[in-house]
Amino acid sequence: MAVPAVLEHDLAPRLEAPEDHELLLVRRGPRTGVQMIVAVHSTVLGPALGGCRMWRYERLDDAIADARRLSSAMTLKAAAARLPLGGGKSVIRLPDGFDAAGPGRELLLRDFAEALEMLGGLYITAEDVGSSAADMAFLSRWSRFVVGSPTGSGDPGDFTAAGVQAAMRACCAHRFGSSELAGRTVAIVGVGHVGAPLARRLAAAGASLVLSDVDHGRFALAEELGAEWLEPAQALRAEVDLLAPCALGGVLDDALVEQLGCGVVCGSANNQLARDELAERLAAREILYAPDFIVNSGGLINVSLELTGYDRELAAERVAGIEGVLDQVLLHAERASITPLAAAIELARERLAAAGV
Ligand code: NAD
Repeated sequence: MAVPAVLEHDLAPRLEAPEDHELLLVRRGPRTGVQMIVAVHSTVLGPALGGCRMWRYERLDDAIADARRLSSAMTLKAAAARLPLGGGKSVIRLPDGFDAAGPGRELLLRDFAEALEMLGGLYITAEDVGSSAADMAFLSRWSRFVVGSPTGSGDPGDFTAAGVQAAMRACCAHRFGSSELAGRTVAIVGVGHVGAPLARRLAAAGASLVLSDVDHGRFALAEELGAEWLEPAQALRAEVDLLAPCALGGVLDDALVEQLGCGVVCGSANNQLARDELAERLAAREILYAPDFIVNSGGLINVSLELTGYDRELAAERVAGIEGVLDQVLLHAERASITPLAAAIELARERLAAAGV
């Protein structure tokens, strides 16, 4: 099965140098015969942390390419967030006909835990598409190199939302001259695990909200918060101060970029730009586009603290630091006359270079 468009956007490489991977493990699980790939792109800043994707791929090469692209993107994300972590990702290639929801799942996870132990902590796994917090709890019975189980740092959604809010403050300071969110109009498209707590946070901060979701069951939240409700196509084009895409990747394509009515785009969705070149077009339209991998790093920051002994208050403090990280990126972009996306990539690469890459 080919990777669907949504996931392709999730994978867009920005630090593409697949041949530079430190380690690539391709192993057939001894209990299940299922192929598992662990790609460790970099451990220069610390152990490589990234999720485990369980997915069906037509060819082994597709699964390996996916793991490599995802892991190099994690190097960039962790470096930009100033985390003491490297970039890694794993893929379990589900064979056709394999019932991943059946009893075979436990054997699959036992096989995967064995691969984690073989790597001795170079790679630490977490939940991703196709895997769950419950899977992480099961894995942690067999391997030390697992984070994100329900007894660990918990649902990252609110931490990610807190990070988006912090990022919005930095955006408002640069675009409107004040970091204050009270009185700002914000459209949130996608009010799920991140979008809903973000809406509550922004309402509490005094912002006026437009909410939108393909799931009309979310309308109740708009009523509760006194927010306007629009269909996604209208919400994306609304005349607001900030637009927060919090649903799927690839939402900002060539056509939509020309029709945006906002001054800032700052949301949690991964890889919001259908192609990175659109960052230039947004800048030309004087729309501040906050790089998604910085804006949504709150979840990674939160889960990373499990490695040193989880502390919820410290997690909240570090996530609030996203405001300062983004402020530095935006300053660099202004001074160097480059887009915030280019500035974020440059700063991440500088951090890696300083550490000896
Ligand atoms: P979620 O599935 O809980 O919520 C997504 C919401 O978007 C759902 O309510 C869904 O109905 C809605 N939606 C789907 N397609 C839509 C469309 N075309 N238009 C409008 N709404 C649509 O997901 P989430 O955990 O809230 O994550 C949202 C985004 O943020 C994803 O791109 C995810 O990769 C990214 N992200 C999430 C986290 C996290 O902590 N959960 C961390 C980093 C990045």
